[in-house]
Amino acid sequence: MQVSRRALLALGGAAAATSVLGLPAFAQDKGTIGIAMPTQSSARWIADGAAMVEQFTAAGYGTDLQYAEDDIPNQLAQIENMITKGVKVLVIAAIDGTTLSNALDNAAAAGIKVIAYDRLIRESGSVDYYATFDNFKVGVQQAESLVAGLKARFADVKPWNVELFGGSPDDNNAFFFYNGAMSVLQPMIDAGDIVIPSGQVGMDVVGTLRWDGAVAQSRMDNLLSSNYGDKALHGALSPYDGLSIGILSSVKGVGYGSGDLAMPIVTGQDCEVPSIKSIIAGEQYSSIFKDTRELAKVTVKMVDAILSGGTPEINDEKTYDNGVKVVPSYLLASQPVDAANYEAVLVGSGYYTADQLK
Ligand code: BGC
Repeated sequence: MQVSRRALLALGGAAAATSVLGLPAFAQDKGTIGIAMPTQSSARWIADGAAMVEQFTAAGYGTDLQYAEDDIPNQLAQIENMITKGVKVLVIAAIDGTTLSNALDNAAAAGIKVIAYDRLIRESGSVDYYATFDNFKVGVQQAESLVAGLKARFADVKPWNVELFGGSPDDNNAFFFYNGAMSVLQPMIDAGDIVIPSGQVGMDVVGTLRWDGAVAQSRMDNLLSSNYGDKALHGALSPYDGLSIGILSSVKGVGYGSGDLAMPIVTGQDCEVPSIKSIIAGEQYSSIFKDTRELAKVTVKMVDAILSGGTPEINDEKTYDNGVKVVPSYLLASQPVDAANYEAVLVGSGYYTADQLK
């Protein structure tokens, strides 16, 4: 059948009219994408969800965005529900990367592709792609920043007393962050430049279940009271801003940051607003910026490629073995942020307004 030029023009006119109204042309024509996020207790996941809804909508998809408040059965139920409702693709940032296998097999049986978002989904063959950051590199950047801070603030001290904090042991990322950081710190520990007075080393002892800041705070309280009677803490490796805030509360509670007790160097990740304010106030030393808008962009492009019968662009086919398969991945770069560059990186890129950081 030939479509008349007039009909085509009319169609073009209709599309233009919707755009003029501020609605994306052909909005929601392409079906619904299920987006399962872990929790709203951390601002980063709220930003991820918002960026994806915005970008999927602009690309013509509907979205079903759900947060599970760090409750594993809740997330499982949300995903099962999305499968029943017939979403086209599932985008999942898992709470526990190992507990979704059955649901994902059901998704595969229903022809629904699965993208692991930021966190690798483990022990499942039904994970098609992985969109994330270079997580090992994030850990390297955290440790490099810790060392830079130690050199700047404690130039005349040797060795530096440092304590290590890890992320949640059910999150694959936590091991990548920790291993990346230790690739920098272990040689310095071996050389005697850094000591860990508590002796607590290894993810099995330094991990922080569910990335809970209160758990990190009370662990820091215990570390200080058991190991620091006669010495000062100079640094804490923290893999996430929510933990950093807890660690800082603990050290401030025993007088660090006042009198002659200098604030230890505390790292972080995600550039959450309270932490950037803390960096501006001279408390937290650094964070790592992971631009959630870019991760959303990669994810939308993956979905578009999958649903148009193409192959998503990937740039890593070897790093992320989930126990069943190596998941084809796209890794984005992260950026260290501290008092010297937060304005250029975060305000300059439009991620935050200057007002939000006041
Ligand atoms: C993410 C980090 C985040 C952490 C806690 C990790 O999986 O990669 O960006 O800090 O979860 O939410």
